[in-house]
Amino acid sequence: MRSTHDTSYKTTCSYCGVGCGIVIRKDRKNNLVLEGNPDHPVNKGMLCSKGMNLHYAMQDMSDRLLFPEMRWSRNHPLQRVSWSDAMKRAAAVFSAMIKTYGPDSVGFYVSGQCLTEEYYVANKLVKGFLGTNNIDTNSRLCMSSAVAGYAQMLGEDAVPVAYEDIELSDCFLIAGANPAWCHPILFRRIEAHKQKNPEVKLIVVDPRRTQTCALADLHLQINPGTDIYLYNAIVRVLIENGEVDYNFVRGHTEQFEQYRDSVFQHTVEEAAEKCDVSIHDIQLAASYIAAAKGFLTLWAMGLNQSAIGVKKNHALISLNLVTGHIGKPGSGPFSLTGQPNAMGGREVGGLATMLAAHRSLANAQHREEVAKFWGVDSISSRPGYTATQMIEALERGELKALWIICTNPLVSWPDARRAEAALANAKFVVVQDISRRSDTLQFADLILPAAGHFEKEGTMTNSERRITHLDKIVDPPGEALPDAEILCRFAKAMGFKGFDYTSVEEIYAEHCRLTKGTNIDISGLSYARLRAEGSMQWPVPEATHSGTTRLFADHAFYTPSRKAKFYPIDAENLSAVPTPELPLILTTGRIRDQWHTMTKTGKVNRLRQHIDKPFLEIHPDDAAARNIGEDDVVVIRNEQGDVRVRARISAEIKRGVVFLPMHWGRMLMKDAARANNLTTMLVDPVSKEPDFKFSRVEVELYRKP
Ligand code: SF4
Repeated sequence: MRSTHDTSYKTTCSYCGVGCGIVIRKDRKNNLVLEGNPDHPVNKGMLCSKGMNLHYAMQDMSDRLLFPEMRWSRNHPLQRVSWSDAMKRAAAVFSAMIKTYGPDSVGFYVSGQCLTEEYYVANKLVKGFLGTNNIDTNSRLCMSSAVAGYAQMLGEDAVPVAYEDIELSDCFLIAGANPAWCHPILFRRIEAHKQKNPEVKLIVVDPRRTQTCALADLHLQINPGTDIYLYNAIVRVLIENGEVDYNFVRGHTEQFEQYRDSVFQHTVEEAAEKCDVSIHDIQLAASYIAAAKGFLTLWAMGLNQSAIGVKKNHALISLNLVTGHIGKPGSGPFSLTGQPNAMGGREVGGLATMLAAHRSLANAQHREEVAKFWGVDSISSRPGYTATQMIEALERGELKALWIICTNPLVSWPDARRAEAALANAKFVVVQDISRRSDTLQFADLILPAAGHFEKEGTMTNSERRITHLDKIVDPPGEALPDAEILCRFAKAMGFKGFDYTSVEEIYAEHCRLTKGTNIDISGLSYARLRAEGSMQWPVPEATHSGTTRLFADHAFYTPSRKAKFYPIDAENLSAVPTPELPLILTTGRIRDQWHTMTKTGKVNRLRQHIDKPFLEIHPDDAAARNIGEDDVVVIRNEQGDVRVRARISAEIKRGVVFLPMHWGRMLMKDAARANNLTTMLVDPVSKEPDFKFSRVEVELYRKP
């Protein structure tokens, strides 16, 4: 939205899913001056260290891709080409692959950083016109377990709560998340609320004593992978103490008995032993929850990135259902997204297993509706390759051409060395990105320069379903183009109709029409409204509707029975079990001032000052047993590979567990510090989300060869 002053613009931060509002002004020298938007309902003027330094990353042009580059074979160097030649080559290769090997021989891998309009066009192009569902997103790696958990239990991938529930809650359970560092503005709201209301309780569940724990009334430092034992034990205590909201459970849920039976498979004593927490602390957590008038559960990758990620979601969401804490102020299950538009991607069906507007690919009627809307004969019923399935299909030679947009899988895919070899096996790789800092460029046969966050218009949806319009602030450098325009040019080069948009607003309007009548209906939310009235939370089904703060206020869920559905939950973890040779459990995650693979935050001096090198966090006892001292160089090894970094000895991490930040890739530290050298291709069987938080490893002092 453009403000009254003609050199002042409104946008949102392009890092985490909190979605803070930003105001940008241009000074007399045309430099960008950035501040938090005091009128934005999410951050009310606040910004974290990453957000307040965003313009430095955006204004640094030193690494920007400026024109298309192409090579005729892997032995040839990349050469500058025109957009026209780039599109002709891409169309020729994709057409030839599809004709010779079928549509499933090509695929797209996109990103939760794409704007909704870009995501929409990419899905229309691939699922509607290329004839394959091989389009997946890096959001598969961070929140697909939450998508499945919500869909199975509530009938829809629908986050029922809003940030304003923070100030209305009196008990928070934060699981597998470190919002103090990774969702800082949201955390500041919790902190401010708790400071004003000392009776508010905060329970944190995490094998590491993170910065978030500093505010906690209770830190349950569980063994990795034992989450379900803990949540089931809390529920068992609630049941035994008569603290279940049976009015809600009987009236608005189903399968409670089967779920209760699974909860009673283990005693609280057994759970305490499995989790390595005290019975007293389990009972204390249950007592905080039982006493709460508003109870919010918040979680992120620590729960989702697991071989049992969907079951962990079931277990946590069940806590809200058992206590009736859903659909009312201050209460609900709240999955936090790590990327700025992971939610927008979900809305347009940006996963290989979904269709637009949360329609199901498995549903023939849904496929027909979308095909008719796009004017194509049909949509394939075969689910596309998910992220790790793409790696396997590349290895088998079945996926031959891959188009990668706005993400750096060479650092972020699990089992990175295997993923690297798989990508090398592709016949043709397109990388569409803004920066030369992407490690993935080394495999590109065609590089397409994209416009950056401030250089294009569009919309994004944050973790609370809030859609915000982003103004274009500056022109892209060189010949870089907005991602939507690149995709439309390619579609036209392929001879497809339906990509003659004259503006991104037209794309957005088409997406809105496709949501009409669905649970995420935004047919009443135009660009004009977003510009005039500001951001809004879906659904917004009418032009007079002012958005939906909270879902399920009437307790009518989106399942066929309109009841929320409990699932019996087997608590056992499915990760590879540690062995005497690989006795430690590696968990990976983020640090405060870096984001993803550092292609943006790594450019900003101020952000590098916080922590400038990768490290291994290890408990003093584990370090002593291996003669490892502070700052010693250590090697972390397992069946997948190795990593070499300096040790940081800390009693804040559990004995037997080690932690590596996931940001550093090959380009920054050669291969040495890439955490995903050690992670595996094991995925949750339902969500296909990788088991990033549990890899068995051994650590030893590095000795020079
Ligand atoms: Fe950006 Fe997230 Fe920080 Fe807000 S909390 S400024 S969205 S990184």
